[in-house]
Amino acid sequence: MSARKPIDAPKKSMTEKILLVEDDPMIGEAVVNALADAGKAADWARSGWEATGFLSENKYDAVLLDLGLPGKDGMSVLRELRAKDSETPVVILTARDGLDDRLAGLDAGADDYVVKPFHMSEVLARLRAIERRRQSAQAASKVLTNGTMTLNCETKTVRLHAPEGDKEVALSKREFDLMEALMTRPGAILSRTTLEERLYGDGDMPESNALEFIIHGLRKKLGANAIGNVRGLGWMVHKGRAAGR
Ligand code: CA
Repeated sequence: MSARKPIDAPKKSMTEKILLVEDDPMIGEAVVNALADAGKAADWARSGWEATGFLSENKYDAVLLDLGLPGKDGMSVLRELRAKDSETPVVILTARDGLDDRLAGLDAGADDYVVKPFHMSEVLARLRAIERRRQSAQAASKVLTNGTMTLNCETKTVRLHAPEGDKEVALSKREFDLMEALMTRPGAILSRTTLEERLYGDGDMPESNALEFIIHGLRKKLGANAIGNVRGLGWMVHKGRAAGR
């Protein structure tokens, strides 16, 4: 059979959009072409002022930033960007002898750098590394902790932290939903109404003691003190001291 098997679908279906800030026309054109070949869309700013304009109007997956630019330099662009946006990844494009530039750039919030003259495969590798870091940071942010226990939103489990060792406990759907609501804001008291809305939405009203039933089950699994009750007001998980143990 000559029919080709479909290749694996790319992890990210949306086109990545990159801002290139580079005043050298030859380097700029080479980078824009290489990005296009790699399936990435690019805007090309040829000066610092142009870069600021692009950044104020668009959201980019990454910025490739030359430091030596006419008029407003790359460091100013970077500092301005970081003053209002700490997330957009920035890779500095710097000269071989620009060690001070590299360090200053990293101090000012750049994520990485490549040294000129660079090969595009190196730039693309840095962009892939940034994407991997972004994905693992997202996965890590799906973990909620109050110091004494940690809720893993991916596995729907709670890890109990104790001096004698950690213990992992699996939760039912409703138990998880309740813990997620409480663990999102350790120390905050959530009312019956808030929790019931979280568990049941606006739809079918639960039996009057359904919430107590779930909390009773959670206390059996996690310990009597895992969920505190403030009479007449609601329930809470305590704010632990040492998060991330
Ligand atoms: Ca330059």
